[in-house]
Amino acid sequence: MFKINEDYLKLPGSYLFSNIAKKVAAFQEQNPKKQIIRLGIGDVTQPLAPAIIESLHRSVDEMGHAETFHGYAPDLGYEFLRSVMAKEDYQSRGCEIRADEIFISDGAKCDSGNIQEIFAKNNRIAVCDPVYPVYVDTNVMAGRTGIYDPDSQTWSDVIYMPCTEENGFAPSLPDQVPDIIYLCFPNNPTGATISREALQEWVDYANRNGSVIIYDAAYEAYISEEGVPHTIYECQGARTCAIELRSFSKNAGFTGVRLGATVIPKELKCGDTTLHSLWARRHGTKYNGAPYIVQRAGEAVYSPEGKEQLKKQVAYYMNNASVIETGLREAGYQVSGGVNAPYIWLKTPQGMTSWEFFDFLLEKANVVGTPGSGFGPSGEGYFRLTAFGSYENTVEAIKRIRQA
Ligand code: PLP
Repeated sequence: MFKINEDYLKLPGSYLFSNIAKKVAAFQEQNPKKQIIRLGIGDVTQPLAPAIIESLHRSVDEMGHAETFHGYAPDLGYEFLRSVMAKEDYQSRGCEIRADEIFISDGAKCDSGNIQEIFAKNNRIAVCDPVYPVYVDTNVMAGRTGIYDPDSQTWSDVIYMPCTEENGFAPSLPDQVPDIIYLCFPNNPTGATISREALQEWVDYANRNGSVIIYDAAYEAYISEEGVPHTIYECQGARTCAIELRSFSKNAGFTGVRLGATVIPKELKCGDTTLHSLWARRHGTKYNGAPYIVQRAGEAVYSPEGKEQLKKQVAYYMNNASVIETGLREAGYQVSGGVNAPYIWLKTPQGMTSWEFFDFLLEKANVVGTPGSGFGPSGEGYFRLTAFGSYENTVEAIKRIRQA
């Protein structure tokens, strides 16, 4: 008789987005005339930029001719994309990352979930609280997290690093030393960032203690302030302790197109073994590459026209973020994020729980957001709104919240 991976049974139900969908559907059924505005999920709404569409058309045509047809992509991604990323994302910022240290993939969700496979089961992980749930859940599936306590919503073998108002939603160095540290800045869900100096402390800590940092830079394109690092490799010594995850979803609207990358410097070693060689082996064995046409579309992100068009797209969303941030602040809400990230993190008023505030907004303003408690215990009493809606809907949503 076959046996299943029982670690999957340990996963608590992921009720967050299904609960939201159920509540919204029930409300809409009872109030069919009400126009609900959704500022909940982190999906983009603007169409792909013209430079990307042109590149897609061109490469689709190439696939229609034997001379320019492309089959399986190279294991680690096409050189044209890896080179332009190395140059534009890293070397132009003074960071020493070479094309052969970049692995092209179909997105940061898979990479952030899969990367734990190259580490031993008895590694101890540390995560921010609240957190993007993929980091923890994939370690649960791997049997690395111990026992779940439903009351505190925590795992016995995970080190939680609370991100609270007191620490500006950026974690402090943990008391116990983790083996693997997940960091994500600009952050989902809090919209918080970290200064280069503060990130340098993490890099120094990891190098001192033999820990590895998995740095999720999915929202890098939203950074507007000086002094906020665009990549962990801006820090001295990051080549010996950090893996970086990149995504094309939020900077270029590829949530449905799918493209991402993982960067592993060759100096990052456990004894004599490079993590680069393990990930290359894993990638080569289990993955057959992002499609040629999608990698060409990714290349167009870095063309002069692509850059110009995407700057405007990011500015469009960040204008929404500013509408939300300013509108809520003026209405007396305590808000953070929204300056270097498309997420606004607000404290629920009058001591409401995250879910009570969800119900309140849905009923009184017909606006949907995401309860902070869904991202971890320290998210209780907070609420996430996203800037990824249309400008018109965003303005209308804030008007309604203010009236509510
Ligand atoms: N990392 C973080 C922190 C995210 O918030 C998301 C998506 O919301 C992802 C990764 C997923 O990115 P991708 O679409 O490239 O899989």
